[in-house]
Amino acid sequence: MALLPYDISQEGRSMFETIIGLEVHAQLNTNTKIFCSCPTSFGEEPNTNVCPVCLGLPGALPVLNENAVRKSISFGTAINATVNKKSIFNRKNYFYPDLPKGYQISQFEIPIVENGEIIIDFEDGTSKKIGVTRAHLEEDAGKNIHESAHSNVDLNRAGTPLLEIVSEPDLRSSDEAVMYLKKLHSIVRYLNISDANMQEGSFRCDANVSIRPKGDDKLYTRVEIKNLNSFKFIQKAIDYEVQRQRDAWEDGVYEDEVVQETRLFNTQTGQTRSMRGKEDSAEYRYFPDPDLLPVLIPDDMMEECVKIPELPDEKKERYVKELGIKEYDASVITANLDLVKFYEDMIANGADAKLGVTWLTTELLGRLGSGLSLQTSPVSSQKLGKLVRRIKDGTISGKAGKEVLDFLMENDLSVDEVIEKLGLKQVSDDGAILEIIDEILSSNEDKVAEYKSGKEKLFGFFVGQVMKASKGSANPAKVNELLRSRLG
Ligand SMILES: [Zn+2]
Repeated sequence: MALLPYDISQEGRSMFETIIGLEVHAQLNTNTKIFCSCPTSFGEEPNTNVCPVCLGLPGALPVLNENAVRKSISFGTAINATVNKKSIFNRKNYFYPDLPKGYQISQFEIPIVENGEIIIDFEDGTSKKIGVTRAHLEEDAGKNIHESAHSNVDLNRAGTPLLEIVSEPDLRSSDEAVMYLKKLHSIVRYLNISDANMQEGSFRCDANVSIRPKGDDKLYTRVEIKNLNSFKFIQKAIDYEVQRQRDAWEDGVYEDEVVQETRLFNTQTGQTRSMRGKEDSAEYRYFPDPDLLPVLIPDDMMEECVKIPELPDEKKERYVKELGIKEYDASVITANLDLVKFYEDMIANGADAKLGVTWLTTELLGRLGSGLSLQTSPVSSQKLGKLVRRIKDGTISGKAGKEVLDFLMENDLSVDEVIEKLGLKQVSDDGAILEIIDEILSSNEDKVAEYKSGKEKLFGFFVGQVMKASKGSANPAKVNELLRSRLG
C-alpha cells in the first residue's frame, strides 16, 4: 500500500479530524402519496394502500401532490435556502424487490431546495452553522420483510413523499451530528411538515463518515452508514466507524480496509459491517422523468408557503427576552415541541417562567422514567403549573413541592388537595411568625446584643432557630423580612 502523508506514531489519535455529512429522509405528512391518491397511513394491512401508479403498472401516470411541494417550500424558507421556482423530477434507475417500477422518482440536477443552513448551539453558548447542500423531493420505496424461509414485499410505503435533506460535510464529531439532527428534527416538527417519528421510520438518516489528519484539507474515503433511526444509534454508529477508520490508519491498513462502501450498523453488537459497494451517481443513469413536467411554483403559492410559524431559534430568543429565562434553558425547551407545548401550558396555568423551567426539566422529567413521556405523564401541565404557582406564592416551600410532586406521580388528586393532605402549607402569617421570632430573640439576648454590636453573621443563626422552632413550616422569605425589621 502507498505511504500515507503522516507519521502518527508521536501524537496519537488527537491528530485526526472527523468529517461527517448527513442525509436525512423526512417523510412528509401529506394525507396521500406523492404521485397518486393512495393514503399514507401507517400500520395498515400489507399491500392495501396501493394502486396502479404506486405499484408501477405499465401505462399508469404519476400526478404530483401539491402539498408535498408546499411543505418543501416551507422547509426551504425555514433553513434560509434558495427555493427553486423550477425543479425537475428524474428517474433513478436500480432494481430492488421493493421498487416495482425499476426506478425511483427523485430529483437530481435541479432539486426544489438548495443552499440552506442549520445552526447548532453548544452548551457554552457558542454556535455553528452547518450548510445544507440541497433538499429534494422523492418517492419512498416499499418494504422488504424477511422471515425465516422467505421474504415478503409490502408496497404500502411505496410512493410516500420524502424530502431528502443533504448536509455539507461540516460536522466534526458524533455530538455535532446529533445536535444537527435534533435541530432538523425540531424544525420539521415546528413546521408540521413531517411527524418525524423515528420508530416508524419517518425520519431516518444515512451518515457519511471519513477521517483525515488535522490540518489536511482534502477529503479521504468516505463510508456511508445506512438507515439509522435513533439519535443514540446514530451516535454509536459514527463513533464506532471513526474508531475503525483510525485503527486502520494506525495499523497501516487504511487503504485496504477503508473503502467507499455502504455499511449497516448492527444495534446488537454496536458495530458496522459492509453491506455493498457504494454506487456513484453515474451508475443510476439519472434522466428526466418523461411522465412528469418540470415543477413550476406559481408566485401566489410561493408567497403563501414562505409564511411559516415561529421556529426553534426565534422561540428561544423570545423566551430569553420576554420570559427572562436563561439561554441554555430556552434552548433545551425549544428543542422539543412536546416540551414547548407543556411549558407554555404551565405558564398559561399561572407558573412562574423561571421556576417553571426547573420544575419541568429537572423535577418532572427526572421523575418520568423510561416508558413514560410528557404525553403520558401522570402529572399534567395544568397541575405542574399550579404546583409552581403555589411555590411562588409562598403557600409551600420548594422542598415541600418535591413531596407534592412525588405524591402526584402516584395519585390523581389536585395540587391543593395534596398540600392539604400532607400538611405542607407554609406559615406566612406575620403574627404567627413574629410570635416565634420574639420567643427566639428573648431567649438569646446575649446573641442579640452581639448582633447589634456588629456581628452580623449571627443573622443566619436567628433564621435557623426560627425555622427550627416552626418545624420548617415558616415561609423563609417572611422569616428573613420580619427578623430584619425586629432586629432594626
Ligand atoms: Zn397509489
